[in-house]
Amino acid sequence: MTLKIQKIGVVGAGTMGSGIAQAFAVSGYEVVLRDIAQGALDHARSVVESSLGRLVSKNKLEAAAAEAALGRIKTTLAVEDFHDADLVVEAVLEKFEVKKAIFSELDRVVRDDAVLASNTSSISLTKIAAATKIPSRVIGMHFFNPVPMMALVEIIRALQTSDEVAAAVTSLVSAIGKDARVARDSYGFVVNRVLIPMINEAINCVYENVATPEDVDAMMKLGAAHPMGPLSLGDLIGLDIVLDVMETLYAGFNDPKFRPSPLLKQMCDAGYLGRKTKRGFFDYSAK
Ligand code: NAD
Repeated sequence: MTLKIQKIGVVGAGTMGSGIAQAFAVSGYEVVLRDIAQGALDHARSVVESSLGRLVSKNKLEAAAAEAALGRIKTTLAVEDFHDADLVVEAVLEKFEVKKAIFSELDRVVRDDAVLASNTSSISLTKIAAATKIPSRVIGMHFFNPVPMMALVEIIRALQTSDEVAAAVTSLVSAIGKDARVARDSYGFVVNRVLIPMINEAINCVYENVATPEDVDAMMKLGAAHPMGPLSLGDLIGLDIVLDVMETLYAGFNDPKFRPSPLLKQMCDAGYLGRKTKRGFFDYSAK
């Protein structure tokens, strides 16, 4: 098994894939970023370029280092370009069948000693690993959005993940200046299992007319020192994603404590998904 990770592949050049590519490139790693759409690759490059530009303007990065980082990201439509990668991080749609197809493709292309990681927020790593040729090399690397700013990477050990792979990925995360915390594979891992039910419960407070959305958020900011209220956070994450995670927890644990709020379902049915639709628990039409 490769313990020295130098060349990194990223599958999916969306919100997360572009941030993951940037985080590795800034720390000196060569990155191959792959998508199925050229438009997504072009967009990712411009997103990375402006993100690096912001870091330079805030004096957090030298202009030359930003340019060098951009130069370390190669974009491609060809999966074969992962042939010499030491690690490939998958960051495509949150659908098991799509991820399974990608991992089969990776099994065909990468060396047997390369590590395969998924940035899934909720799908069982054990199930993903079981669908691959060498399950012991599969691991979860759960980055948070926006990747360049967020310090945590939740490392998820599938039942099959080897100690060697877990250790290599944990030290890689430290090498890019982030904090790696290891969780065993379980529904929602740790962060979403704790965070999303809290947002769901805040929604229940509104549903039951306990308090207004403004007051629920104010109480959690003023009384629990949260930097952002739970309803504003739900609007930022996207209420459809909050519902997806609640459904994963509810079905996975088969426990009524994870029942999605009826109001959360109604908001999603109405298309009031938060910031992305300009309306959620708050109004964003003017922004
Ligand atoms: P996104 O929709 O922004 O990007 C997905 C990208 O994958 C798109 O560019 C799409 O063209 C590409 N793609 C689809 N099928 C592909 C294929 N077969 N091969 C290569 N590329 C393909 O999605 P995202 O928000 O970046 O989320 C990606 C993953 O990260 C999901 O599993 C999600 O649950 C997880 N995640 C998201 C967040 C977040 O806040 N957005 C946070 C943590 C984890």
